[in-house]
Amino acid sequence: MRRLPVFFVLDCSESMAGQNIQQMQQGIQLIMQKLRQDPYALETVYVSVIAFAGIVRTLVPLVEVFAYYSTKLPLGGGTHLGKALEHLMNEFDRHLMKTTEETKGDWKPIAYLFTDGRPTDECKDAIYRWQKKYARRCTLIALGMGKNVDYATLKQLTEHCIAFDELNEKDFKKFFQWISASVVAQSKSIGDGQQQDHLPPIDERYMRLVKDLPAKKTLVDENCVTFVGRCGKLNRPYLMKFEREIQYQAPQDLNINLNLYHFQLTECCKIDEDYFTWSDQTQHQQQVNTTLLQGTPECPHCLAETAFAMCGCGQLMCYDGFSEDVTCPWCRRQVSFDYGGMDGFNVQRGRG
Ligand SMILES: [Zn+2]
Ligand SMILES: [Zn+2]
Repeated sequence: MRRLPVFFVLDCSESMAGQNIQQMQQGIQLIMQKLRQDPYALETVYVSVIAFAGIVRTLVPLVEVFAYYSTKLPLGGGTHLGKALEHLMNEFDRHLMKTTEETKGDWKPIAYLFTDGRPTDECKDAIYRWQKKYARRCTLIALGMGKNVDYATLKQLTEHCIAFDELNEKDFKKFFQWISASVVAQSKSIGDGQQQDHLPPIDERYMRLVKDLPAKKTLVDENCVTFVGRCGKLNRPYLMKFEREIQYQAPQDLNINLNLYHFQLTECCKIDEDYFTWSDQTQHQQQVNTTLLQGTPECPHCLAETAFAMCGCGQLMCYDGFSEDVTCPWCRRQVSFDYGGMDGFNVQRGRG
């Protein structure tokens, strides 16, 4: 039996933290449910799941639909798209069966690449390798989620670039239904004797095909900043996500680049210790002036008043607002905070 290999390449960078990663997790489950109910898919489809953040790993190696097991998606710092592509191409080389004189190899593989941001590594070599050798031999569908997607890069990989701008729960579900329908359509076309690579029609209510790119690059470079902290009581990590909100945009005829903005808290959630494994430790943390940040989250672990207290070591921890001596969960030094009223916390250096 010739296999139809389907690869899901999932962006698990920190901007996906919270709801988005949960929705993606559920979405993959939904796809697998649909595939299990489809006789064609059961017969031909093999699925693999690859996750990327600061590192790239195969979470599920190519398996038959009924043998698929669900896996918890990780979360890490970085969106190393170049590395993810290299990894995918290496997986093709290693695991796909080529057609020989005696046997027919695998059907043309399909890869769904999900991303919500901009690559944080150098992609040029990977894109070149992709275009030269793999683009014709694989149907790649790039799925951009949210408003911070670098379509200019994705367009170099495939004509099938689909934008999914609004990330609400209802549309997420439909979006994943569309993906499963596209896998089912492919496996059915194979069952009928001929592989087709056209996709089901795009439902414009919640997704769109990216055709033309805006000529000008937006002035906004980062739409989302994230910070990692650690609970002072339970020593567990959490992640805070702030998204940019424009408050004032200079009229275009003034010809000046003036935008006033702040970052609004959108998410503060528990993360696993493996976040640090999935992050690229060599990359520097973004610097943001804290006066631009609006909204103070409470600690998702111990519910302390703020999750945004900074130790003299530069790391963030939670603080309940009254304890006198606390130990920084990062550097293990004693810290004392004094409450700075409207200005937030004044941070004193640890005492040794
Ligand atoms: Zn805490
Ligand atoms: Zn510290």
